[in-house]
Amino acid sequence: MSGKAVMECINAAYAALKEHTDEIALLDQQIGDGDHIFNLLRGMEALLAVRADIEAETLAAALQLAASKVLSTVGGSSGPLFFSLLSGMSKASVNNPMDIAGFARIYSAGVEAVRQRGKTGVGSKTMMDVLIPVAARFTELAATGSPTIRQTVLDTLPRVAEENMLATRDMLATKGRASFLGERSRGHIDPGARSSQIMIAAVCAHLARNQQ
Ligand code: ADP
Ligand code: MG
Repeated sequence: MSGKAVMECINAAYAALKEHTDEIALLDQQIGDGDHIFNLLRGMEALLAVRADIEAETLAAALQLAASKVLSTVGGSSGPLFFSLLSGMSKASVNNPMDIAGFARIYSAGVEAVRQRGKTGVGSKTMMDVLIPVAARFTELAATGSPTIRQTVLDTLPRVAEENMLATRDMLATKGRASFLGERSRGHIDPGARSSQIMIAAVCAHLARNQQ
């Protein structure tokens, strides 16, 4: 996987987020301040603006460049968190093979970096409720070493992301802005869980269409 492949994934995620702009804006209006999707789109557009630079890099350097762009353009809580995800993945991509098991470790290292930055795990009604279960299932599937593992991973992870995104609806928010609402945070899907799930689904669908 190269900088070019990274850029294709970013593009797929961007297109999917664009389609869901109004929905995610509404979710963040309900339990946050409404800026989440606009923070993300601004970051993605900054990445598209340096598309050629990202495409020219190796996987590790492309992810690190994307991370630093995201940090300087995405505001809110999610800027530093997505920086940690990309930067954590970049660091892990140096020592891991470019196979399914390697990608499971790279993704999981990114999620672990987010967990350390945001100081929260599952159950706080955040993007972690999607990112962590996806990392866990990815690791579990990768360990099976089945010959059809790539397809299994690309079919399964979007389902895991969706189930866990939906589960945030009934949770009480204990982290981030939504936690200020206390019990009133229940009954709304977390916007960060929804945007993460949309990006995971879009990237998996893109990779399923393209063998690389
Ligand atoms: P802000 O809350 O500062 O306006 P955003 O709107 O960009 O930031 O992002 C809100 C999302 O960030 C939430 O929906 C939640 O998923 C996620 N989030 C907030 N705090 C944390 C945290 N400590 N760890 C992980 N994710 C978090
Ligand atoms: Mg917000």
